[in-house]
Amino acid sequence: MSASLETATSTAGGGNAGTATPAGVPESEAARKPGAHSVGPNELCVLMKLGEIVLKGSNRKLFERRLHNNIRNATRDLGDIRLSQRGSGVIVLRMPGASDAQVTELSERMRHVMGVVWVHLVRRVAKDVDTVTDVALSSMAGRSGSFAVRARRRDKRFPMTSSELAGYVGARIKERYDLPVNLKHPDNTVFIEVDKDEVFVFTEGIPGQGGLPAGMSGRALVLMSGGIDSPVAAHRMMRRGLKVDFLHFSGMPFTGPESIYKAYSLVRELDRFQVGSRLFVVPFGKAQQQLRTSGSERLQIIAQRRLMLKTAEAMADNLGAEALVTGDALGQVSSQTLTNMTALDDSVDLPILRPLIGMDKAEIMDQARDIGTLSISELPDEDCCTLLTPRQVETAANVGDLRQIEKRLDAEELAEYLVSTAQKHRPSFLGDSEPAAGATAAR
Ligand code: ATP
Ligand code: MG
Repeated sequence: MSASLETATSTAGGGNAGTATPAGVPESEAARKPGAHSVGPNELCVLMKLGEIVLKGSNRKLFERRLHNNIRNATRDLGDIRLSQRGSGVIVLRMPGASDAQVTELSERMRHVMGVVWVHLVRRVAKDVDTVTDVALSSMAGRSGSFAVRARRRDKRFPMTSSELAGYVGARIKERYDLPVNLKHPDNTVFIEVDKDEVFVFTEGIPGQGGLPAGMSGRALVLMSGGIDSPVAAHRMMRRGLKVDFLHFSGMPFTGPESIYKAYSLVRELDRFQVGSRLFVVPFGKAQQQLRTSGSERLQIIAQRRLMLKTAEAMADNLGAEALVTGDALGQVSSQTLTNMTALDDSVDLPILRPLIGMDKAEIMDQARDIGTLSISELPDEDCCTLLTPRQVETAANVGDLRQIEKRLDAEELAEYLVSTAQKHRPSFLGDSEPAAGATAAR
């Protein structure tokens, strides 16, 4: 059995899974020295647990490589970071010479990297039982309630078994602080992980995003309004390993630029989860007007959505995207009835992914809050869809009627033209985005 599959062994004491804090131990001087290779007694680093990636069998190496690249991209402004893969399910990041605050910021970044299930701030210590015990004792200083120690060895040459080590350290903690041991539901847990060259000691962790590394499943284009739903849809698909680009239709020249600012801010927020996002903005007002003059009437909204999808498909072709993503949820608004969604599917050949299809608005809002997009989506703007909205919206659009409208308009050509008007932006959470004024066309 590989070390990584070994189950944790428990003895004295317990743990909690709250927010990550340094293990409560002062940083060592040795660990501060730039380029220090020796194991200092208390170097703070980040240890991450991976999830599904571990199950990938022969593809695992590919997934790991993608994840390592994504991690490097997400930290490229943070200086010298040493990444090492430990077994199949653990990655350790070291920042030689960095302060505790810098390492803590690194752990924050890692919370957003797709494919990471747990992020721990850990103390890296020498493979010596006394040192491990000292650091474990310090990590419990000032704490109350019950505790457990959980030990695991990725290196079986360590002279104690996992349960012996946990038992020994647990006994010392009990002796020093007189706290009750609770192996099942401890208030505090001290984790000890023995590796080839060092031991990691930590107390808590914060949940990561889980899922698969962004880019592993291919590329897609998200139709991104300024609303609540489409950013959540984008997040869900990134979490399944898609790298996504974003396409926003503004009502310009008949609306102000507010919806563009919102789309830009939303993409910058979502960029944390994949790094390197592109946003294309298409002024859609005149095309909406053309649809109206072609007699779309009650079909105006669906006809608009079909034209958006056709434009997205033409753009996806240029970008190498293999699917479109929307924030549709069944029945949420009139354009999202089953019949209307079938009429939308009819407008393009590419698959339309709708990850929110079965979700309630309240659930979607909770997720939007979690991923940090809700407050941006709630800012006021003038949505292009409300422009030229008919008094009555068709809930069962007839595909034949829609095709007639599009024939009169030469919708395919119009879609191609709209792609040529797209402005490209790079909203980066790292703050090194291209300025909006310097935007370039999509192709
Ligand atoms: P959202 O909150 O994402 O705007 P919604 O509930 O308001 O969704 P609709 O307005 O019918 O629903 O839009 C459904 C989907 O169509 C959106 O989730 C988005 O993917 C796409 N869409 C709508 N308007 C735009 C737009 N202006 N630009 C790009 N895509 C859009
Ligand atoms: Mg909307």
